[in-house]
Amino acid sequence: MNKSENHKPIVTRFAPSPTGNLHIGGFRTALFNYLYAKHFGGKVVLRIEDTDRERSKPEYEKNIHEGLEWLGLKFDETYKQSERSAIYSQYVSKLIAEDKAYVSKEEITAEDIAEAADPKAKGAKKRSEVIRFRNPNKVINFYDIIRGEISVDTTELGDFVIAKGIDEPLYNFAVVVDEFEMGITHVIRGDDHIANTPRQILIGAALGAHMPIYAHLPLILAPDKSKLSKRKGARSLTEYRDDGYLPEALTNFMAMLGWNPGTEEEFFSRDELIKRFDVAQVQKAGAVYNEEKLRWVNREYLKRKPHVEIATAARPFFERSAEFQKNGWSISDGHMMKLVPVLLDRINVYTDITKMVDDHEFDYLFGQPEYDPKDMIWRDETGPERTKEFFEKVLEILEAAPEESFKDSESVKSLIWAYATDMGRGAVLWPIRFALTGKMKSPDPFTLLTILGKKEGIKRLKHAHKLLA
Ligand code: GLU
Repeated sequence: MNKSENHKPIVTRFAPSPTGNLHIGGFRTALFNYLYAKHFGGKVVLRIEDTDRERSKPEYEKNIHEGLEWLGLKFDETYKQSERSAIYSQYVSKLIAEDKAYVSKEEITAEDIAEAADPKAKGAKKRSEVIRFRNPNKVINFYDIIRGEISVDTTELGDFVIAKGIDEPLYNFAVVVDEFEMGITHVIRGDDHIANTPRQILIGAALGAHMPIYAHLPLILAPDKSKLSKRKGARSLTEYRDDGYLPEALTNFMAMLGWNPGTEEEFFSRDELIKRFDVAQVQKAGAVYNEEKLRWVNREYLKRKPHVEIATAARPFFERSAEFQKNGWSISDGHMMKLVPVLLDRINVYTDITKMVDDHEFDYLFGQPEYDPKDMIWRDETGPERTKEFFEKVLEILEAAPEESFKDSESVKSLIWAYATDMGRGAVLWPIRFALTGKMKSPDPFTLLTILGKKEGIKRLKHAHKLLA
């Protein structure tokens, strides 16, 4: 299909219920609806499905908007079901007038209502009157873009409940009225809704609506193939945001969760995704969520960022560390800029910084480290006397060098490299590295001298020299 063959513009919708925060599963549904609509130059609608008054909460609605906004998903239209009751009532009355539905005075059980409503609904009360749909009891056939032809005998559904009263439509009814009123052409949603589809198709036919095309997305699974849960790493979008994930990385990663372009390519901008995405290429099997993969994708996006942007974004993750706060540390903008290469070598996501600071991996940035001088010696055959000589020579070189030479690691390297090569790189460079950080693992000594600067670097090397005496 392309735009010219497609007479009716495509309209998709993302229809979250504000009964919880927006998680990655919801985001994937939103993204696929967005990409599919935009691919065909169509529209995507956001519909907040808050008919379940007890479980819908304003804070969840806020969380949904915040998550979508962070990811930059813009919707062409936004609706809220709680503001549309008059429309639903009209359609309930119309179906009753046409004898396609009827008021049923009966002792209806809480289970009947829960069953006919959102399957997750709880707390339905016992009532004496409901609106039932007059089921024509037929076999319905529909095409699901992902699952293919589906055929269901709806007889066993009986005359199911569509509203608790004229003013209280149930989930399945409100959804169908909305698809009709909003001109939805494609319903792309989680496959937990497949069981609702036959009822929705029957109601749609009774309303005289054109049947939308369905695409039921397979579940997202944890790495052990069980259902993805909070314990297994599922988080709300705002948690990913607060951890410092890059929205473009999360978007790229989520697009590939269950879909691939049929090639080995892995990186796609939003525009490329719009060009390439096709819901028909979504796999039938559950897609496995792999946090390590996400971290890797995030790192790839991080590496492409301008350093000044990283310096600005990374700062709060230092400041958020309990150690940082406890010690009253601070970090200048210049310092942040010089740290960027070190960060890029060590982190996948900004939140890694906070953990590293808490784990004392960055203590050397904030003051003279403490260490055992014996660890400064490269190998026994070098010994403290030789090591002292190395420090003396390196100090001589550094003291003579202009401030300018400390602005980047290549310049610092060019000061010491020839000498280190003559004397043995490990024997000369290891003690410097260790004297500057007190750590067995650290960035190279040139980068460290750039970060610490001439004055502090020399001070630490002198201190080390003294300890060897
Ligand atoms: N409101 C439903 C949910 O959040 C989705 C309904 C649909 O997409 O048809 O699970």
